[in-house]
Amino acid sequence: MTTDHEHVARTIELAEEAVEDGNTPFGALLVVDGEVRREARNTTLTDDDVSAHPELKLARWAGSELSPEELADCTMYASTEPCPMCTAAIHYAGIGRVVFGVAGETLHELTGGGVPIPAEEVIRRADGDADVEGPIATEAAMAVHESFFGA
Ligand SMILES: [Zn+2]
Repeated sequence: MTTDHEHVARTIELAEEAVEDGNTPFGALLVVDGEVRREARNTTLTDDDVSAHPELKLARWAGSELSPEELADCTMYASTEPCPMCTAAIHYAGIGRVVFGVAGETLHELTGGGVPIPAEEVIRRADGDADVEGPIATEAAMAVHESFFGA
């Protein structure tokens, strides 16, 4: 059984791959019943699409392709805490759990960008019941950001 830390480590690899593709360093994946069902990298720059965050692409896919039972059992793993746009989509899709590497606020301290409202707060304000866990890999996830955005 792959652990939360191993799945988040893979999302950090996806974030590195996003940079190799010419994008900003964010990656995410979906696990249902212990199996990785789909991975995504950020493509905001190469798609010229401000909404091409990996978590939003995965939430759209999940809402379309997974059954309600699969959604409830689904975990979204993300290298960085999903932003409010993506967290809202996670809520709308009905994804049951979110686990992330580094907090959005920690990234915001480095870049000054983004919308650093905690995913937990977005879910709670929406009266959602998704579990939100993190940060669980701050050092590894921030290393990718520091090499991209500058420490
Ligand atoms: Zn996002």
